[in-house]
Amino acid sequence: MDWVHTVTGPVRPEDLGMTLVHEHLLLGFPGWFMDALAPKFRRADALSRGVDRLQELMGLGVATFLDPCPMDLGRDVEFMAEVSQRSGMRIVCTTGAFKEDEGISYTFGALPVQDIEAIYLKELTEGIGDTGIRAGLVKVATGVPKISAYEQKLLIAAGRAAAKVGCPVITHTDQARLGIEQIAALTKEGVPAHRVLVGHSDGRDDHTYHRSLADRGAYVGFDRFGIESFISDDKRIDSVCKMIRAGYARSICLSHDSTCAAWLGRPVFNGRHVATPEAIAASMPTWDATHLFKRIVPRLKERGVTDEDVRTIFIENPRRYFRGEEPPREGAAGPRSWWPRRG
Ligand SMILES: [Zn+2]
Repeated sequence: MDWVHTVTGPVRPEDLGMTLVHEHLLLGFPGWFMDALAPKFRRADALSRGVDRLQELMGLGVATFLDPCPMDLGRDVEFMAEVSQRSGMRIVCTTGAFKEDEGISYTFGALPVQDIEAIYLKELTEGIGDTGIRAGLVKVATGVPKISAYEQKLLIAAGRAAAKVGCPVITHTDQARLGIEQIAALTKEGVPAHRVLVGHSDGRDDHTYHRSLADRGAYVGFDRFGIESFISDDKRIDSVCKMIRAGYARSICLSHDSTCAAWLGRPVFNGRHVATPEAIAASMPTWDATHLFKRIVPRLKERGVTDEDVRTIFIENPRRYFRGEEPPREGAAGPRSWWPRRG
C-alpha cells in the first residue's frame, strides 16, 4: 500500500511516526442516545477535550492516532477530522461493525456478504457518507465463546474488502480468545497475516497464545494498558517482556483503548453495568492515552526493554503493518540471552 488514508488525507506509511494503534475519541454503545439520564453530549466541549488530549500526546512524541471505532459505536469521522485539524495529530479511522452482542446487527444481519463487502469498499475508496473521508483500514470484532454466524459473515466481508484494496485489518477479541480463528478467516479471503492486528490480546497472560498469533505472522495487540479491571498492568508488562525476550519485538503493538474526547451516553459494560465517566476515572485513574509514555515504558525499560525496542514497537511495526511489509523472520536480536534482572 502506497498511502495510508487519514481523516485529513493520504500520507505515506514512512511518515506515520510514533503511532498509537488503538485509541478512541468518542465511544457510545448502541442506544446511548436513548439514555435521557446521561449527561447531554456537548460537541464543543468534547472537541476541545479531544484537541487538548491529542496535543498532550503530540508533546510526548505521538504523531498518529488510530481510532478503530466501528460504525455502530458512535463513529463520527467529521469530529475526528476537526480534532485532527485543530490538534495537528494524524488520525486514521476504520470501516466495519462491532461484534454481535454489543453492536447493531439488525441490518447487516439481513444483508448478504457481498453487500457488506461493497459497503466496506465504498468507505475505503470513496469515503464515509458524503464526507469524502476515507477509512484507512477495516475493523472486525468477535465475541465469546465462539465466532457467531453474523461475525463470521463480517469477517469474510472484511477480508475480501481489505484484500481488494490492500489495506490492513484491526480486530477486537473478547477475553483474548479466537485470535487464531480470526487470522484463519481473514487469510482465507486473501489478507496476508502480517496485515492483521489481533486486538486486545493482552486480556489473558497466555504467552503460548501470544506466540501462536505472532508465529502465524500477525501483530499482537497489547492495547488495553490502564484497564486494570480486565487484567493488571503488571501482567501486561510481564507478557510484553516475555514476547520481547523471545524475539518478538517486531510482532507487538501497544496502546490503551482509551476514550479521549467523550463517552456518548453512560458507558454500559457487559450488558449490565452502567457506569459514569467519573466513576471509570476514579476506579482506573491511570487509564488514559498518555499512560504508556508516562508510566509503562519506563517500567519496561527497567526490565531491560531497549530504546530500539520502543522504536520498533511504536514506529516500525505500525509502519510495516500499513505498508504490508512482512516482518523479518527473526526478531530484532532473536531470543535474548542477555536479558537483565528479573522477568
Ligand atoms: Zn476500542
